Amino acid sequence: MSQVYDRVALIGLGLIASSMYWAMKRGNLAGEVTGYARSAETRATAREIGLCDRVCDTLAEAVEGADLVVLCVPVGVMGAVAGEIAPMLSPGVTVTDVGSVKADVIAQVAPHLPEGVHFIPGHPLAGTEHSGPRSGFAELFDNRWCLLVPVEGTDPEAVARLRRLWEGIGANVEEMDAEHHDLVLAVTSHAPHLIAYTMVGVADDLRRVTDSEVVKYSAAGFRDFTRIAASDPTMWRDVFLTNKEATLEILGRFTEELFALQRAIRQGDGEHLFDYFTRTRAIRRGIIEAGQDTAAPDFGRAGRK
Ligand code: NAP
Repeated sequence: MSQVYDRVALIGLGLIASSMYWAMKRGNLAGEVTGYARSAETRATAREIGLCDRVCDTLAEAVEGADLVVLCVPVGVMGAVAGEIAPMLSPGVTVTDVGSVKADVIAQVAPHLPEGVHFIPGHPLAGTEHSGPRSGFAELFDNRWCLLVPVEGTDPEAVARLRRLWEGIGANVEEMDAEHHDLVLAVTSHAPHLIAYTMVGVADDLRRVTDSEVVKYSAAGFRDFTRIAASDPTMWRDVFLTNKEATLEILGRFTEELFALQRAIRQGDGEHLFDYFTRTRAIRRGIIEAGQDTAAPDFGRAGRK
């Protein structure tokens, strides 16, 4: 694979940035990759494990001379970081982000960027419940989707170049508008996370009654909820605060469906339950057929991190 950018700056050195770095190295996609994280501890870890060609102690140093800047920080601070780097950006530079929410991030970041800078928001649909600089791995994005959300009037050449980078990293790339992205992600990721957090919270309350049995006899359903509910609290707090409307819309629908199922259970309406579960089972088959998971009993995670 050939080099797509001469100088890439990764701002924030957590799961996503570190996975991007290892994947860029694997594919030889960038000449030099600089990295910056706000804490000295994370920068020291990055240096220790060889994460980034050059770890910088200031944002300015990391961004200087870059032709691609990737914002890999929680969505709630994207605007503040963009404001800090703005004076260092020259025309022709591409700024992208990997945030899980798009309309709010665009509203935060776009006003800071100077004329001539290409702003191309993005979101790789891949992650784990782990965070921090040590959690990344080159294969995270392989055969996963990366959604690009170009704002109106973006240079198609700049979009094509960023697309080449993500394809080199291993992802399949598609373009989408921000509102649609936020609604789709509310259904596929944000609401499910909230439901997992809730279920684990309920079990934790109950644990006080049943002693440690919830943990001791933890079965597949609950275990999977706990994995999701172990995700980074900062990231997920920010997701719900910034994708408020779409998440509330989906949670409203979820509550209605839950009430219908609750009624079916109370009335002994087995037909309703059976039909519902038959319909949902087909969705699982569709995901496997689309190559987004395997049918393995461990949900295909054994081979991944
Ligand atoms: P992470 O592992 O927790 O890393 C976050 C990084 O951001 C850390 O280097 C942290 O620095 C830095 N940071 C945190 N708060 C900051 C602030 N106020 N100012 C400057 N830097 C700050 O997070 P991640 O999982 O890589 O997520 C990064 C982005 O990717 C988020 O926007 C998230 O929505 C998105 N995303 C995540 C996933 C996922 O599953 N994890 C999937 C797709 C997209 P320190 O280490 O110095 O604190």
